[in-house]
Amino acid sequence: MHARLNLSTAELQALDAAHYLHPFTDYKQLSNKGARIISHADGIYLWDSDGNRILDAMAGLWCVNIGYGREELARAAAEQMRDLPYYNSFFQTSHEPGIRLAEMLSEVTPEGLDHVFYSGSGSEANDTVVRMVRHYWGCKGKPEKTVIISRENAYHGSTMAGASLGGMKPMHAQGGLPIPGIVHIEQPYWFENSAGLSRREYGVKAARALEHKLDQLGDDKVAAFIAEPIQGAGGVIIPPDSYWPEIKRILDERDILLVMDEVICGFGRTGEWFGSDLYDIRPDLMPMAKGMSSGYLPIGGVMVSDRVVETLWEGGEFFHGYTYSGHPTCCAVAIKNIEILQDENIVEHVRDVAAPHLAERWEALADHPLVGEARSAGLVAALELVKDKATGERFPEVGTTGSLCRDICIDNGIIMRAVRDSMIISPPLIISASQIDELVDLAWRCLDQTASELGVSA
Ligand SMILES: *Cc1c(COP(=O)(O)O)cnc(C)c1O
Repeated sequence: MHARLNLSTAELQALDAAHYLHPFTDYKQLSNKGARIISHADGIYLWDSDGNRILDAMAGLWCVNIGYGREELARAAAEQMRDLPYYNSFFQTSHEPGIRLAEMLSEVTPEGLDHVFYSGSGSEANDTVVRMVRHYWGCKGKPEKTVIISRENAYHGSTMAGASLGGMKPMHAQGGLPIPGIVHIEQPYWFENSAGLSRREYGVKAARALEHKLDQLGDDKVAAFIAEPIQGAGGVIIPPDSYWPEIKRILDERDILLVMDEVICGFGRTGEWFGSDLYDIRPDLMPMAKGMSSGYLPIGGVMVSDRVVETLWEGGEFFHGYTYSGHPTCCAVAIKNIEILQDENIVEHVRDVAAPHLAERWEALADHPLVGEARSAGLVAALELVKDKATGERFPEVGTTGSLCRDICIDNGIIMRAVRDSMIISPPLIISASQIDELVDLAWRCLDQTASELGVSA
């Protein structure tokens, strides 16, 4: 496969700096450096406009679950575009791709989630969550139950509601977020916050932050608790095994809704279809996006439990929806994506082959002098970069070591992402055992180079 670019790298970089405002980017810094132009992709690899091959250990942004270059998805989109590229489902109309996908989703998602509200993205799905949980309690005659409890350092998107649900302080600082009625509790980040507690003890303690917050606010004010099964953008924070059972215990005693944000964990990432399956949880609402179409087209949605739907059913019109809710072409691509996940047993491949192999190889990275902890679950993984292995002491100026390592990675032909001073991966689910070996060997080489730039002996 070859790139079909019309302009040179230098021309593209100049036009990019002149006209293109990128997401989550320091514009001046990028224009000084010049963007890397990605030209084409296949399987787990990307190529840039200078012809460099790069192993995409992030699957784009955690989304290209079935890998790049699947002709079937291109064909599904083209066929649907010819028949019916677009129609809405607002005014008592519907269409086959939207209906068939809804049925498929009710099959692959956990029991009791049999209805979907479509969105165009994960952020929009979480906007729907905020609207829907408050509407639900309104329908129940308890309109004062409005507060949503989330967690520090969570990521739930970048719209006003998404960024407010998220617990990222720098995002809140730009523009007076969170919006009213959203509060945050401690995240279950053992490596950072455990203060000498065992994983088990710390997991229970972190979960009880929810109980304390509920006691403080009063259950009669709280609509829902929202959480990612495993925090992704916050740094692949895998909760201790004791965390989710304790959260379940607390929620079983209270009348509030549980929202599991499956935008990353969904569609096979953890070796189960959903993170909720991994932790044996039955959420009331489940936002999803990313892996739903493997990123080939933008689509998201919220799975809604039968219990919630029964109440909404009696509540009259829900004044909410998007022009592109259930976009037929995006639905057709999502259907084909799910068929591929099923027909090629990709979730089983993650569970039985790729995840165990990654776990074994990744854990060995903990022997590297720069690494304080190496952890993985399914096909997400993180390395904690530290100055002192014995104490877990970090480097001064949080984030500089992570950024240095990330730049070294891309120069060596692998995309890993830096979150502060954690290095994280989330590769395509179709990655083979030998490609995992290639990934980990590259990671080791990049850690060595990072150590030598920092003057740490490797
Ligand atoms: C990416 C992400 C979102 C936001 O999805 P967008 O499609 O970028 O709007 C929401 N929640 C989680 C957990 C995510 O990782």
